[in-house]
Amino acid sequence: MEIERCSACKRPYSIDEIGIRGPGGSEPEPITCPHCAHTYNQRSSGTFRTHALSAEQEKEYNEKHPI
Ligand SMILES: [Zn+2]
Repeated sequence: MEIERCSACKRPYSIDEIGIRGPGGSEPEPITCPHCAHTYNQRSSGTFRTHALSAEQEKEYNEKHPI
């Protein structure tokens, strides 16, 4: 699981890469912000699932990674 900050609304969310098909065959797959639905593509041989952080996790992330 990775945590990334949305470039549009600046809120963090977690990204899981699921269903990886193995090496090769990577294609641009959408990553959608769960807060504002901003979407961008990143190459992957799987699919990205995004999740909002809990209020506590979000607060902790913001403290560790100030904007
Ligand atoms: Zn966003």
